[in-house]
Amino acid sequence: MQDIELYTKLLGIRAPWSITGVQVSLKDRSVTISVSYDESIPVACPVCSGQASIYDHQKRRWRHLDTMQFMTIIECDVPRASCEDHGVKQLPVAWAEVKGRFTAVRHDQRPAPSPELTHPPVIGSDPPDRHAK
Ligand SMILES: [Zn+2]
Repeated sequence: MQDIELYTKLLGIRAPWSITGVQVSLKDRSVTISVSYDESIPVACPVCSGQASIYDHQKRRWRHLDTMQFMTIIECDVPRASCEDHGVKQLPVAWAEVKGRFTAVRHDQRPAPSPELTHPPVIGSDPPDRHAK
C-alpha cells in the first residue's frame, strides 16, 4: 500500500519495526499510523543489551508533527523485554523517547523557510521611478 511506503520513508521506520497500517479520518482530520515489532527477531535488554524475552506489550500513542494540518498519531503495542538482571523494561522506539507522550521531534528539525517565503515579493509595487515621467 502506498501510504505505508510513504510513511515508512518519512518516519525512517526500519526493521524490526514496520508500519502495518495508515488510517486517515477526514471527520477527525487525523492520520493514525500503526507500527509493529517483528517478533521473529530476538529482543535485547535495553539496559545491558543482553538476551531477553518478550514479557508483554504496552499500547502507546505519540503525537507527531501534523501531516497537511491533519493531527498525526503513531500507535504501537511496544514490547517489554524481560531480562534476568534488569527485570521488565520497555524497548526503546526510534521515533520517540521511552517515557515521552509525544515524539522527539524538535522545532529546529523543521526545514528552514526559503527566503522567498519569509519575504514575499510585493505584487504591484513597481519602483516609483518606473512610472514617474
Ligand atoms: Zn539486562
